[in-house]
Amino acid sequence: PPTPTDRVRLDPGAVAERGATETAEHLRQGAHSRVAHAKRFRVAQLEAFERMLRIHRADLLQALEDDLGKSQLESQVTELQMVQNEVEHARRHLDDWMRTRAVASPFALAPVSTTVTARPLGMVLVIAPWNYPVNLTLTPLVDAIAAGNTVLLKPSELAPATAALLERIIPQYLDHRTVAVVTGGPEVTTELLRHKFDHILYTGGERVGRIVYEAAAKQLTPVTLELGGKCPVLVADGDVMGIARRIAHGKFTNAGQTCVAPDYVLAVGSMGAKLAAAMPKVIREFYGADPRTSRDFGRIINAHHVRRLAGLLEEGHVTAGGIVNEAERYVAPTVLTQVVPEHSVMQEEIFGPILPILQVATVDDALRFIGDRPDPLAAYVFSERGGVVKAFEEGVRAGAVGVNATILHLAVPELPFGGVGASGIGAYHGKTGFDTFSQQRPTLSKSIRLDTLRMLYPPYGAAKSAV
Ligand code: NAD
Repeated sequence: PPTPTDRVRLDPGAVAERGATETAEHLRQGAHSRVAHAKRFRVAQLEAFERMLRIHRADLLQALEDDLGKSQLESQVTELQMVQNEVEHARRHLDDWMRTRAVASPFALAPVSTTVTARPLGMVLVIAPWNYPVNLTLTPLVDAIAAGNTVLLKPSELAPATAALLERIIPQYLDHRTVAVVTGGPEVTTELLRHKFDHILYTGGERVGRIVYEAAAKQLTPVTLELGGKCPVLVADGDVMGIARRIAHGKFTNAGQTCVAPDYVLAVGSMGAKLAAAMPKVIREFYGADPRTSRDFGRIINAHHVRRLAGLLEEGHVTAGGIVNEAERYVAPTVLTQVVPEHSVMQEEIFGPILPILQVATVDDALRFIGDRPDPLAAYVFSERGGVVKAFEEGVRAGAVGVNATILHLAVPELPFGGVGASGIGAYHGKTGFDTFSQQRPTLSKSIRLDTLRMLYPPYGAAKSAV
């Protein structure tokens, strides 16, 4: 097998010409060779990855603008910087994560050595969505490389500029035996899913999540499913303008197309009316009188989703925004009041810049409302009362909880990122990501010279049975 000092092989031409099946077979050879296992190789790959991020920063920002109309600052903060943080974190902790750990063993087995080592799983498939097409494609890649795997990336066809860029630049920096990009739509993913992978990380909607899970089951392949859902916000008490800013920031970043964006608000008592009055002021503060002209407000991914979002505005009362321009893929930052649970906007994940505010009588009513619905990817509470926060933390099942803050938990590599129940299976980011793409392999080792196991061997005469 190749040594750790084996030169990184870059072969962009060869990779570009391969189809999905050939690429999967090619990477399987790479996995068999175990070239990706060595620590030096992993570090070299992570360093090359950082070079790629640095050199192609402007290209990545441009692709994100083309696909989603994101401002440079937003792309920098929510996409590039998060990937950069992940790779730095992985490099800093790799020694520690890879270190074999000794564990205690029962006295009866002594003398014995018992250890656990994180071993690479082998070949990993990452299926990425369009909403954060850089972050959600490259962050899993970092974790999988750190864990010593070969990785096949399938970016979303709905963010075509980013997909084409990643397909072009990745083979220029990362070893072609261990990392490859395959672009295309559902037909390509379907073809890939016929292959045996050692792990699949899928990010996207629930419908396709089920397809991926079923295909993986046929191959007995473990999965991480990063799905979505309706992330609730409980507003109980506190400074209303401050709350409105934190909710608006989480909601309107990327024009609401964020899996952990606040989906709807449950406001206790008079907080509903106060928040509804504060939101238009905050929207104006953030994006000016006409958000359409703001460089800081993004666009909807395609016309289909614009029409879907426009449909959600047909019920309830538009308190702010409500303007839709299909040709520009623009949906204004919108606040809806007089919404009831039966309205369409409360039946599906909104995934756009529309914020329904529902009023509830008590905190308990809000907890019941959330508990009666599928488990969300994140749940947020705004309150300065310890009892309310505790009741929320105890009473709500969600992939993550944010207290007086929305979406920020994603920026912390030490925090596992994943769902629970309907919002997903498994997690990644930081050490959790490294573990997701590793097997925790135990080893028990004992000297043959001194046989202390005689008591365990048959025949089990009366003396042994008495023990
Ligand atoms: P998408 O349409 O881009 O699909 C995701 C991937 O599935 C793509 O690579 C696509 O090619 C593939 N795909 C589509 N149809 C397929 C089929 N029939 N068979 C096989 N593969 C297929 O993304 P999406 O589903 O529109 O993403 C939005 C959803 O993702 C939202 O529900 C959102 O909440 C969720 N999401 C979750 C996270 C998370 O980290 N948990 C992050 C972002 C988005």
